[in-house]
Amino acid sequence: MKNLRGKISAKRNYLSIMYIPHNKGGVKTIRINHYRTTLLTTFAFMLVALLMLTGYTLSVVKQNKDMIVQHTNELNAIMSEKEQLQAVIAKQTKELADNAEIITTMNSIKTISEEAIDNYKEQYENMIVAYIDSDIKDIGTVSRGDKKPASFKEDVAELRSLISLVESAKLSADDVTSKIAQKEEQLNNYLDALPTYWPVNSRTTFSGFGMRFHPIYKRYIMHDGLDMAGSTGDPVYASGEGKVTFAGWNGGFGNVIIVDHGNGFKTYYAHLSKILVKEGQWVSKAQKIGLVGSTGLSTSSHLHFEVRLNDKPTDPLYYIEP
Ligand SMILES: [Zn+2]
Repeated sequence: MKNLRGKISAKRNYLSIMYIPHNKGGVKTIRINHYRTTLLTTFAFMLVALLMLTGYTLSVVKQNKDMIVQHTNELNAIMSEKEQLQAVIAKQTKELADNAEIITTMNSIKTISEEAIDNYKEQYENMIVAYIDSDIKDIGTVSRGDKKPASFKEDVAELRSLISLVESAKLSADDVTSKIAQKEEQLNNYLDALPTYWPVNSRTTFSGFGMRFHPIYKRYIMHDGLDMAGSTGDPVYASGEGKVTFAGWNGGFGNVIIVDHGNGFKTYYAHLSKILVKEGQWVSKAQKIGLVGSTGLSTSSHLHFEVRLNDKPTDPLYYIEP
């Protein structure tokens, strides 16, 4: 038994492959040793494993390639979006810069306007104070060659240019504009009140302010106003806006109108043939208030016109503009 078992056991260590042909011929048997079988099987397994691994690797590589392509596409899309965003940001930045520029310009215009208004007010006040507080005697008796007339008219011209600057600074209907408009109106009111308007149509004058030989008294006496040519019935205009404080007969003046313009200024219109306004009435600059005549102490039709500062007569040519 021991020997038989050993023989069977020994036989199992072989693998037999039989070749049986269909035609005549002998059956061939290939007997393979057990160890070789194990080796072959192992080799086959390894081969299959290698093939599988290669296949898997190739599949992973392909997947990676696909992913790379996909990611590249996504990245390109993101880059494109980024470029678009950058373009939008650049555009917005430029718009902001433009807006900032506009705001700066508006602010500078606003500053200029406000400065102009301040300058105007200050200058107007200084001017009025200077004319009223300066030696009234001097103003009343200076000759026409004095520098004061030019200075006053230069001041007025400057005030007008300031008003036009303020006007040019008007923007839209916002707070700034309404503020400027209010100030402008106020400033125009100041200017309207100044006696600057020539009171008759004629520009001919024949007897100036100052000492002169009086045609009736036949001696040298002070002439407190300016005589202007005009025929009876010609219109007489208010030299500035103001309130009529007298309208009636007054001795040598004949029919006379006195207008108070405020700030110490009063104007006199004498020898009128007719008075067209009443005491207490407000008149505007250039308003027709009476007619030229020869009433009172007068030898012929003309307008005797006076400008008084704090009730002192001054040369009207300081103020009125031809
Ligand atoms: Zn006169």
